Amino acid sequence: MTWNPTTGCSKVSQGCKHCYAEIMSNRLQAMGVEKYRDAFEVREHPEALKIPYTWKKSKIVFVNSMSDLFHEKVSLEFIKRVFKVMNENPQHVFQVLTKRHERLLDVHNELKWTHNIWMGVSVEDQKVEHRIDYLRNTKSRTKFLSLEPLIGPLPNMNLEGIDWVIVGGESGHNPRPMNPDWVLDIQEQCERVDVAFFFKQWGGRNKKKNGRILNGRTYDEMPEIELQRSV
Ligand code: SF4
Repeated sequence: MTWNPTTGCSKVSQGCKHCYAEIMSNRLQAMGVEKYRDAFEVREHPEALKIPYTWKKSKIVFVNSMSDLFHEKVSLEFIKRVFKVMNENPQHVFQVLTKRHERLLDVHNELKWTHNIWMGVSVEDQKVEHRIDYLRNTKSRTKFLSLEPLIGPLPNMNLEGIDWVIVGGESGHNPRPMNPDWVLDIQEQCERVDVAFFFKQWGGRNKKKNGRILNGRTYDEMPEIELQRSV
């Protein structure tokens, strides 16, 4: 499930070209949804901070599907409040994904990294591969890479300290192609160093039809989940 204590963002690299959050935010604004009245402008939503306390069962939560928590316009004070909520809800796993690797590393020492917070960076091609080094240097206990939409090869990645790799091709009206050799190479890199590998989709205009079979099988590996031991 998703939890959006902030909304809005701005584009930083090629992976943002067909940003789903931007399209959805504009659509929700047009529909008159109050939370999106400023469309894709960065906004903090303090009222959303109460939501995780109301969930009865343990959940895997994707934080900020409509934004980037480490965007320069999100105040450090608010990032700390979001982390406090995650710290106080060790029964849930919170997955936080960013393309703002520099800000992440700048502020990571001021945040409390309980076991239930999984931190990831997006890497769509070699131009932004350095994001992995920034993530590696944070205190996050579970670290993951979202290689999606994969738009270039990523040979010889340094996966030291990385727990999980997700790969996916772009979908939508005008998707950029993903070469199967890039995916096979990444799967082999993960296998070599025993990093969990999850293949999400081939993508394309008809992502359902194209499916998610690689090497004649699906890949659904995940890091081990540690719950209720964080605080
Ligand atoms: S960082 Fe994410 S949310 Fe922000 S513009 Fe890029 S793809 Fe969209």
